[in-house]
Amino acid sequence: MTKKGTKYFVTGGAGFIGSHLVDRLVERGGVTVYDNLSSGWREFLEHHLGRGDFNFIEADLLDFDTLKGAIGGHDVVFHLAANPDVRAGIAATDLDLRAGTMASYNVLEAMRRNGVKQVVFASSSTVYGDAGITPVGEDYGPLRPISLYGASKLGSEGLISAFCHLFGMQGWIFRLANIIGPRLTHGVIFNFINRLKENPGQLEILGDGRQQKPYLHVDDCLDGMLLAVEKSGEPLNVFNLGPASSTSVVRIAEVIVAAMGLKGVAFSYAGGDRGWAGDVPQVRFDVSSMNRLGWKPKYSSDQAVERTVRELLSGGASNE
Ligand code: NAD
Repeated sequence: MTKKGTKYFVTGGAGFIGSHLVDRLVERGGVTVYDNLSSGWREFLEHHLGRGDFNFIEADLLDFDTLKGAIGGHDVVFHLAANPDVRAGIAATDLDLRAGTMASYNVLEAMRRNGVKQVVFASSSTVYGDAGITPVGEDYGPLRPISLYGASKLGSEGLISAFCHLFGMQGWIFRLANIIGPRLTHGVIFNFINRLKENPGQLEILGDGRQQKPYLHVDDCLDGMLLAVEKSGEPLNVFNLGPASSTSVVRIAEVIVAAMGLKGVAFSYAGGDRGWAGDVPQVRFDVSSMNRLGWKPKYSSDQAVERTVRELLSGGASNE
């Protein structure tokens, strides 16, 4: 996977996680990024443009012919492109089907036709649905997602499993926690910072603020992904990737308010136990499979939140 001269193909490589991944992969081999810039930024890759072993293709995964032509000659595909906004799938019910499940099918089929054998996929804790507060391990089932985003991740996982079984491919599936860090362009931290910049006196919090989720710093996320693809060699390898700890939404708001030096901010609550329909308010991960490989995150969930808030405030939270 990381032998010298390995050629990597990264879908969604202009996005938040993808661009950090690219920063790591260019140290190991040649990299092609394939991204339609729907939620990614060319600026995130600017420092690589012009390198001989780096190639950026601005195109859509739903354009199968372009994808098929681009993917040939690569050794490993990191498939990260997707709609990142769980809520957007409620308004446009075919969004995740197309940008998620169909896009994944196209990636796998383009790989098959070109004889590319290894795929690494960014899945999500949303495949577990609303599993309650018992930490869920990778063998937990039945998997019943409660959002179309989660359904598309589960559909993609199923396709990866079938392609690996049928066509001698090898897959790594990472069910990610909430990933945060520099270049974050969406999610609660990004959102709170931008709203407090606009209106430093007031912050509306979705749900009752007690939603409690695991937040993983992107550095820890990539350490984990790259370690696991090195150290696991089954035809299909599935890992939860997140911290064992979690952070409430209110705590995130408090950390941001303190870091911005604001005083007397009035928090109001939209009410209900979850942020939106399809939101999973309590997420707990069993990450013992990753721990057994030797991975431990450097930062707890709270520490990852605090660090990210500092990073975003010093480097600018917004691309808007
Ligand atoms: P992101 O929006 O920053 O990155 C996604 C990238 O995919 C963007 O650059 C976008 O332009 C690109 N893209 C989307 N649809 C495309 C298409 N049809 N063709 C080509 N490119 C397309 O999001 P992210 O946070 O970096 O997430 C990366 C992956 O990790 C996604 O699959 C996401 O579902 C998954 N994930 C993220 C988190 C998180 O907390 N950030 C958690 C769980 C899973």
